[in-house]
Amino acid sequence: MKVGVLALQGSFKDHVEMLKKCNVEPIEVRLPRDTEDIEALIIPGGESTTIIKLLIEYQLDIIIKQRHSEGMPIYGTCAGAIVLAKEIVGSKQPTLGLMDISVKRNAYGRQIESFEAMIDIEKIGKFPGIFIRAPIIEATSNGAKVIATLENKAVMVEQGNILVSTFHPELTDDVRVHKYFLSKIIR
Ligand code: GLN
Repeated sequence: MKVGVLALQGSFKDHVEMLKKCNVEPIEVRLPRDTEDIEALIIPGGESTTIIKLLIEYQLDIIIKQRHSEGMPIYGTCAGAIVLAKEIVGSKQPTLGLMDISVKRNAYGRQIESFEAMIDIEKIGKFPGIFIRAPIIEATSNGAKVIATLENKAVMVEQGNILVSTFHPELTDDVRVHKYFLSKIIR
């Protein structure tokens, strides 16, 4: 099984390593043709403005939307969640708009740029959440379902075969979130 990791910018290497631990073949996606054989895609953390700009420049937005409409699961971590959101609060920046969430960038404030917190994920259980300049998911609509919260704010949301988390499971040794995501692949 081949799973793509968008490799334009950000922490894609950690997802690549995580996929290897899950016994799947990671494919670094930089150009539309790199998506040809993948059965799922991970959009990593990084700088969402840069990732979106490059996505559009390389016309990866079109192919990702098309592959998703044909059933390809997508998981976005942190900046990846922003890239997938329908709306960025206070910004007109385009996104892939595939998930019915509204996100606010860098919303935990400067004093607490990074922190760790134990969270409880539906169907997975307790999980160490690593948050780095994380966005806050302010609202969800339609079929977007909150599956983990921290202080009453959504930190993980699922909508059909799209999953987002505002934390970084790829920075832990715990493969459960990635395995959960991979279970969305229908073969
Ligand atoms: N602050 C970044 C952004 O807004 C996200 C940070 C991250 O992905 N770790 O794009």
